[in-house]
Amino acid sequence: MKYVGAHVSASGGVENSPINAHAIGAKAFALFTKNQRQWFANPYSEKNVELFKARCHELGYNADYILPHDSYLINLGHPEEEGLNKSRAAFLDEMQRCEQLGLNRLNFHPGSHLQAISIDACLDRIAESINIALDKTSGVTAVIENTAGQGSNVGHTFEQIAHIIDKVEDKSRVGVCLDTAHTLAAGYEIRTRAGYDKTFAAFDQIVGFRYLRGMHINDSKKELATHVDRHDSIGKGVMGMDLFRFIMNDPRMDNIPLILETPDEQVWAEEIKALYSLVE
Ligand SMILES: [Zn+2]
Ligand SMILES: [Zn+2]
Repeated sequence: MKYVGAHVSASGGVENSPINAHAIGAKAFALFTKNQRQWFANPYSEKNVELFKARCHELGYNADYILPHDSYLINLGHPEEEGLNKSRAAFLDEMQRCEQLGLNRLNFHPGSHLQAISIDACLDRIAESINIALDKTSGVTAVIENTAGQGSNVGHTFEQIAHIIDKVEDKSRVGVCLDTAHTLAAGYEIRTRAGYDKTFAAFDQIVGFRYLRGMHINDSKKELATHVDRHDSIGKGVMGMDLFRFIMNDPRMDNIPLILETPDEQVWAEEIKALYSLVE
């Protein structure tokens, strides 16, 4: 079964996110656990947590289909001590927020070397950052999102993701989220049957489908291998509809959150319906 939803707003309180997801007919959803552009956020109140849990239960959202996303400020591979420590503390705070909400995974962008350290050194730092966070939490999986490889962002090849996973001590609590727009921009052709089969065979061989904990379902404004991260609404970008048909009929994408991060939230309900209509 496919669980399609969108990255919905949590403004006014984290407990509003399941209501926003329900309003667009989502079977899954993503949210920011705190304001994604600020370092500090007040802790959740007891009421925030209780209402979030009650509403998820009431509206039928199991934690397995909720994919929280961390702050854009965090860089777990930061080349400098101060930036690294600040990022590690903020990431731990977000993992603990997931624990509080009864969620079992946190999606994050791996990090950037900022032209100051090698890619391998950056990947090692990220793995160590994950180890530190996993050591201090329980029940929450750290879910590495593949990137477009924009600027000095790492995590745009399956080999780089495998490098991180290889150095994570608790393999049961590390996972991957593949973003379709990032995958294409990173240089993996996924729009044709042959390209799709080849890309996902490579993913399975290099990383392994057992680590796949979610996907971001986005069209892309940018072409193959441009290394530029620009999402577009489904059917409006360079992706075409075949990719989405392949995903919606691929049993390897069953029972994980499939999350739209498309730019026009007015059409999320339609996009969700359109994706389900592709199931053969
Ligand atoms: Zn992301
Ligand atoms: Zn994404």
